[in-house]
Amino acid sequence: MAKLVIKNLRVAVAGDLILNGVDLEINDGEIHALMGPNGTGKSTLSETIMGNPRYQICDGQIILNDMDITELMVDERARAGIFLAMQYPTEVAGISNADFIHAALNAQNDGKSVPVLPFLKELEEKMSFLEIAEDYADRGLNADFSGGEKKRNEILQMMMLKPKLAILDEIDSGLDIDALKIVAKGINAMRGRNFSCLMVTHYQRLLNYVIPDVVHVMMDGKIIKTGGAELAKQLEKTGYGNLN
Ligand code: ADP
Ligand code: MG
Ligand code: MG
Repeated sequence: MAKLVIKNLRVAVAGDLILNGVDLEINDGEIHALMGPNGTGKSTLSETIMGNPRYQICDGQIILNDMDITELMVDERARAGIFLAMQYPTEVAGISNADFIHAALNAQNDGKSVPVLPFLKELEEKMSFLEIAEDYADRGLNADFSGGEKKRNEILQMMMLKPKLAILDEIDSGLDIDALKIVAKGINAMRGRNFSCLMVTHYQRLLNYVIPDVVHVMMDGKIIKTGGAELAKQLEKTGYGNLN
């Protein structure tokens, strides 16, 4: 099971109230899109679900399956099965991509080392599925990666970690059409029981390749409209200004 429930979430950043009562429910197996103009709080919601301590929860609850995770630390949330692909993935020169994913898997495994050979085999299979170059595994984490490579790397991490809830914050930004299709292929491969997903995006384009079950529109720190995949198509035509 992978069900997320958010109730009346109010979040402040650096003393400013940014999220002002967000309610959201993602059922097991569902992929939701969260859309909305720049600066409306989409990344704030993403970071808050993951547990970034800069985002201060003033009110509300975040529940994964039957566990209230509102007070958990970021590593505890990761172990509970939450994964965030950040809008701007971090670069770390001193740790390789393969070591980073292996360490994350070990953490998920209560600190016990995941056997290296099967790990490397699966990593190779998924790299090939996502058309990632072979030298990638030994390169520094996101070091000297193009924007598109970083986004593909986030999808690789997701596929290796197999989270219950994946939050993908603008995973489509800066991608050319070929990279976009590969990213979409990775997300679609995860679709199914025990996986739920929140895809944050400004644009309809990604949603042509990953059809969302539900689309939400966020404005000024609130979800102001929820609908099906057709809502994203309507937004593409009318823009956010004419929503009602
Ligand atoms: P979106 O992802 O929808 O573009 P954000 O969640 O990034 O919106 O930003 C919402 C508001 O919160 C903006 O006014 C932004 O300036 C502010 N904000 C977000 N994160 C931070 C932060 N770490 N420090 C200060 N202000 C922030
Ligand atoms: Mg933004
Ligand atoms: Mg953002």
